[in-house]
Order: sequence, then structure tokens, then C-alpha cells
Amino acid sequence: MPASRTTTTLPPPHTDVLIVGAGPVGLALAVSLRQLDVDHVLIDRDDGPRTGSRAAALQPRSLEYLERIGVAQRLVAAGERGQGFRVHDRERTLLHASYAGLDTPYPYVLLASQETTERHLLRRLRELGGTAYRGHRFLGFTPDFPGITAVVARPDGSLRSVRARYLVGCDGLHSAVRTAAGIGFPGEAPEQLFALADVRLAPGADGLAQDGTTFFLSRAGMLLLSPLADGQHRVVTPAAPGSGTLGTLGPADIERLVAERGPLTGSIRVAEVVSASTYRVQERVAERFRRGPVFLAGDAAHTHSPAGGQGMNTGIQDAGNLAWKLHTVLTGAAPDELLDSYHEERHPVAAELVAFTSHVARLATLRDPDAGQRRNDLLAAAAATPGIPGWVAAKLAQLDTGYAREPGDGSPRVGERVSPLSVPQASLRWTLALPGRGQQEHVQQQGALTVRHVPGLRTPLLVRPDGHLAAHGVPSEPAEVLSGLDRYLPLPTPR
Ligand SMILES: Cc1cc2nc3c(=O)[nH]c(=O)nc-3n(C[C@H](O)[C@H](O)[C@H](O)COP(=O)(O)OP(=O)(O)OC[C@H]3O[C@@H](n4cnc5c(N)ncnc54)[C@H](O)[C@@H]3O)c2cc1C
Repeated sequence: MPASRTTTTLPPPHTDVLIVGAGPVGLALAVSLRQLDVDHVLIDRDDGPRTGSRAAALQPRSLEYLERIGVAQRLVAAGERGQGFRVHDRERTLLHASYAGLDTPYPYVLLASQETTERHLLRRLRELGGTAYRGHRFLGFTPDFPGITAVVARPDGSLRSVRARYLVGCDGLHSAVRTAAGIGFPGEAPEQLFALADVRLAPGADGLAQDGTTFFLSRAGMLLLSPLADGQHRVVTPAAPGSGTLGTLGPADIERLVAERGPLTGSIRVAEVVSASTYRVQERVAERFRRGPVFLAGDAAHTHSPAGGQGMNTGIQDAGNLAWKLHTVLTGAAPDELLDSYHEERHPVAAELVAFTSHVARLATLRDPDAGQRRNDLLAAAAATPGIPGWVAAKLAQLDTGYAREPGDGSPRVGERVSPLSVPQASLRWTLALPGRGQQEHVQQQGALTVRHVPGLRTPLLVRPDGHLAAHGVPSEPAEVLSGLDRYLPLPTPR
């Protein structure tokens, strides 16, 4: 798999979907569309996947989706399994959000660099016959009913027009697609400067450094210590404005910070600083995730504190939500209004995520030591309440993300995630789960449906290609479900 290259072949002049940005989100969308046989063009201004420290972990919910597009198993083989998250005050455990008991086939945080994730997505795209046009920069678009015509600068500087029915901006924080579509990106950049270093520890590091991702909240301040893939560790801590950066500090400075804020016992020696940088947190959500034929996904649509490892993972879920809807509309199986539900479902998820990570980051960086002590005592008391650590783990794992609108009555709610452990789901197909006959699960394919007889199930369920419940109590005759599939789509209710 070549690491990088510009693409000198011309992108086609017409396509159904133009995807701008081949980061993890654009790649996940392109692989999904390719798997669904949706005509698309993927462009990126860069020559290849970016190196350097960014997302370091895949959450279980992402792995569930990546399994559907044929990437999860390889990533699991390439990465390492982390146990979840801990919050500590020095040696004292305040909260342990273990993933071990989570209701998912992937009850762990998969430690894999963002570069590894992107390389495996790209490999899958190529296997399916797809490609990323590298060195191609999106400059702008003009409306061209019912779609758009985009202007793209090629590697040699020449311009090319690409006409598309739909345009998806997966082009990151400073999205040119978002700007060209005139979509606002309100929010703020709080006064939070973080220093981040990826290091190699000397042999014999304290057990806490090996145990999993740990947030230390001590009187001296916050520090995150997390194992990464490839035997490295990530250290993240607030940097005082104007105080210099970890980029200018050596191993001894990092050892001092860990000694001040991290575990009390044991010794942590830094053998090598692999990379170091500072970043300023931005907390923003695009006003709309759709405007006419234009969509935003990933960091182009939302950005927030990286604490908790959610950004890339949320973007992958955006791609999963949008891909099957584009396919359904482009094959004529649903009206264009189905695509409005992309904004309706994903915007609240992003808004809630930004609020949640903002709250966590503010609590974690309290400057007053007494307020910090009260926070720690409250956290320890809350964590002792049965159910709370599991709730936190499910939230960070993104297993609780859903689109249910109706209050629950105990039965699965439309829009909620359906665990693959209770109803196995494969590929980007709809699943009709029927109450099982006997102990064995029976599977058959019928049109767009995979029909499963699931032992122990009480009522027929229809599950969407992105793993969310479309309807319960549906007819048990597959042909009847198929002919009335539009009844189970998240379409706006007629007034
Ligand atoms: C320090 C740090 C740590 C992080 N840790 C985590 C973590 O642990 N877990 C997590 O989930 N997330 C984490 N994140 C966030 C994560 O890196 C992002 O959420 C993720 O990269 C978003 O993916 P994306 O595909 O939306 O955008 P990007 O990765 O930014 O990709 C956008 C792509 O668009 C291309 N592009 C941009 N403009 C144009 C244009 N005009 N024309 C053509 N192409 C264009 C770019 O070249 C790029 O390839 C972290 C981020 C940082 C900075």
C-alpha cells in the first residue's frame, strides 16, 4: 500500500456524490458508498494520510460499524486492547469505567493510531475498486440544480469541474465546503491550551502507566497518561498560556509533570519523546449538517476537546448515518427528504457531545485546589453508586448514542442502537430479526433484507443498515416488509 501519492488521473466530470476530504470520515464514507455500489468521487488536497499524533483510540461503537464495512478485524489485529478509562487522584481510584462488561462484540478501547485507521480504510477502499484522488483541492462550488458543480484544483494547478448530485464536506475543522455553503460554525475557543507528548517510557514503569487510560486529577492539576499502540504512551496536561510547550521540553520535564500530577509510587522514566505539540480546544457545531445538496460530516461539522477520545469516532458514525440514506435516495427507494434526517439525527448527537466534553474538560482543569478536592470527593461518591461506572463506560464507548424520540416503555425504542450481540447484523444491509425457532439461529437473504431467526426474541425487529432500530412489531413476512420499507424510514411526518 503506497504511503502517499498525488493522483494524476482525472477525476470524472460527473458523479452522484463528491466527497471532499480523505481523512478517517471521508474514507469511511467512501468505503461505505463503494460497498453499496453508489457512484462517488473522493478527493483530498494532501498527498497521503497525515502522520503525527491525533486520534489514538477506536471506540466499540466505531468498531461495530467498521465491521460492517470490512475493516474492523484488520484493525483489531493491528491495534492493542485497552481496558477502559480510570480517573485517579494520585494513587486513589475515583472512578473506573471498565469496558469489560459492555454489551458489544468489542468490549475494549482499541488503541490504534489515526494513521493506522486511515491506512486500513484506504486499503479496503482500494480492495473494493475505489480510489482517493490525492493532491486535488476543493476550491468552491456553484449550485447546479438539482446538485452542484465544484471547482477542483489538480496537482498540476489546472482546474477541473466536477458536477455532483450531492457534495459532502469531510474536510476537517477549517472546512472549505462549509464556508462555500455559507453554513455557520458557532461556538467558542475556551482559554484551554493543552500540551501533548507521545513518549517511550523506560522499562520498569509503574503499573498505572500500563493499566489503561488514566486521568489524574490531583491538587497540582490534571494529567492524562495513556498507553498507545506500538509501546508508546501519551501524556496530556494543561499548559499555562505563554509558558512554552512540551515541544520545547525534554524527557526530564515530562517526568517532573508526571511526578507532580500522576501516580505517587513507582518511577516513570521517559526514554524518548517521539512527538510533542500544544493545541487549543475549539468547541463548535455547524448550524446545519445539510443545506440543499451539501452535507457536512466529521470535524467539518463538529469539533471539541479531544479528552475522552470521541472526535474521530463521532465522525465515523456520521458517515455511517449518511451512507445508507444516500444509497436509499439515489436508488429511488426513498424521497430526498430522507436526507433531512441526517441533520435531525446527527446534529443533536454532536451538540450533546460538545456540551459533555466541554463540561468534563472544565471540571478536569479547575484551578482552585479546594474546588478540585470537592470535585474528586463527589466523583468518588458518584462512582460508588451502582450503575454509574457502567453508564460512563457505555457513554464513552458511544453505545448509548441513539435517535429515539418517544419515551421508553421497556421495549426497544425506534432509533436506538440494537446490540449485535442480541441481533447479529452484517454488511450494510437491513436486518429483519424474527423470534427464533429452536436454539439455532437461521439466516436467509431476501432482497435488501437479511432475515434472521433469533432465539429468545419476543417481537419482530427491523434494524437499519447503521445498526439502529427502524421498527418493532413489523410483519414477519419478509416480502411484506420489503414492499413497505418506506414506512420504516425516518422521514418527516406529514403535517
Ligand atoms: C491532539 C489530538 C488528539 C486527538 N485524539 C483523538 C482521540 O483520541 N479520539 C478521537 O476520536 N479523536 C481524536 N482527535 C480528533 C480527530 O483527530 C478528528 O476528529 C479527526 O481527524 C476528524 O476526521 P475528519 O476526517 O473529519 O477530518 P480530518 O482528519 O481533519 O481530515 C480532513 C481531510 O480533508 C482534507 N482537506 C481539507 N481541506 C480540503 C480541501 N479544500 N480540498 C480537499 N481536501 C481537503 C485534508 O487534507 C484532510 O485529509 C484528536 C485530535 C487532536 C488534534
